[in-house]
Amino acid sequence: MNSNEIEIHKELKKYFGFSQFKGLQEQVITSILGKTNTFVIMPTGGGKSLCYQLPALIQDGTAIVVSPLIALMKNQVDAIRSLSSENGIAHVLNSSLTKTEIAQVKKDITSGLTKLLYVAPESLTKEEYVAFLQSVPISFVAIDEAHCISEWGHDFRPEYRNLKNIIKQLGQVPIIGLTATATPKVQEDILKNLDMSDANTFKASFNRPNLYYEVRTKTKNIESDIIRFIKQHKGKSGIIYCLSRKKVESIAEVLQVNGISAVPYHAGLDAKTRAKHQDMFLMEDVDVVVATIAFGMGIDKPDVRFVIHHDIPKSLESYYQETGRAGRDGGEGHCLAYYSYKDVEKLEKFMSGKPVAEQEIGFALLQEVVAYAETSMSRRKFLLHYFGEEFDSETGEGADMDDNVRNPKNKIEAQDQVVK
Ligand code: ADP
Ligand code: MG
Repeated sequence: MNSNEIEIHKELKKYFGFSQFKGLQEQVITSILGKTNTFVIMPTGGGKSLCYQLPALIQDGTAIVVSPLIALMKNQVDAIRSLSSENGIAHVLNSSLTKTEIAQVKKDITSGLTKLLYVAPESLTKEEYVAFLQSVPISFVAIDEAHCISEWGHDFRPEYRNLKNIIKQLGQVPIIGLTATATPKVQEDILKNLDMSDANTFKASFNRPNLYYEVRTKTKNIESDIIRFIKQHKGKSGIIYCLSRKKVESIAEVLQVNGISAVPYHAGLDAKTRAKHQDMFLMEDVDVVVATIAFGMGIDKPDVRFVIHHDIPKSLESYYQETGRAGRDGGEGHCLAYYSYKDVEKLEKFMSGKPVAEQEIGFALLQEVVAYAETSMSRRKFLLHYFGEEFDSETGEGADMDDNVRNPKNKIEAQDQVVK
């Protein structure tokens, strides 16, 4: 180790209490400290926040962190403040602040106390804020959830498109973009829109070797099939994703009458019921949550043992994120998707009301899901290839963890049964 390495290890321990970096963190941090534009692609839970938090804490000036969700920013600010005796070490700048609070934020930044300033992209467009930020030393700008800049991502935010122009007004500051979206298209968009084709890029593997991938043909017996599956995983935690709220309700009911402890979760339930059902799942008062995709963002239950898709997801990106909630602890995680071509047509019909450009993207993403469902090759190889990653289906980690690899013959029979 050279002296710099010793230094950042020491700081890691001092601020975060960790004795080792996770994955590519150290290389990323070294790149940022070298004032180079940096691009980080790591799966959820990979430890992206620390990649900008640590260099922000140990450098002069304030790092600006752009993040799309106020709740996420608040969590991070609280976490950083708990590492320090100074509240002013981290601040959020958004429209909810009073004049007095804004004055305090500005004072802490000017005095050099504030190391991390979290801002929503729309706040950054305010001229008053930009003028102020031009007058203070900025160490770098971190753009978290950078996929929000791309229409090919799952969470497009038009405000992200303005970021580059605003950052330019701040002078020569390095940018670090971070995302868990691994598709090459989204990555290209990020680099293009942030005008940083020169960035040092760090991409972690998206392989989840402990997850087992399976696709079953969706038939009219799907409900009894799901019940049988859950009974084979008695007492284990699992999530069932459905497309519609109505389906969520009906499946939850069917499970309950069959003696399975399950609760529904969707955006149509009032906030109190949603929070209650989520807590019941986290506290293991129930085994199963039946949910729309409204469920799961930020859910960190380490021992989810299965994720079932009653209906196919709208993209492989979403499928990866949703199945990624299984087996966080490294233990077993069974990812089962039911597939019928009728569902594809339903989704296509659903999209036909949208603007043409959006439709085209939607159809293209859906075609990839169809290809995944119908493939007879290693599902892990297919998924990782979609994310631009080569996977050796003979020797790669988790190579035998899917239905196609384990039962190649059954798969071919199943293909013939696909309801078209
Ligand atoms: P991401 O943003 O990539 O989804 P987070 O930044 O939220 O991931 O980090 C995920 C978890 O990993 C957090 O609980 C964090 O404390 C933990 N973590 C990050 N870096 C380390 C490390 N070097 N050693 C141990 N745990 C870490
Ligand atoms: Mg994150």
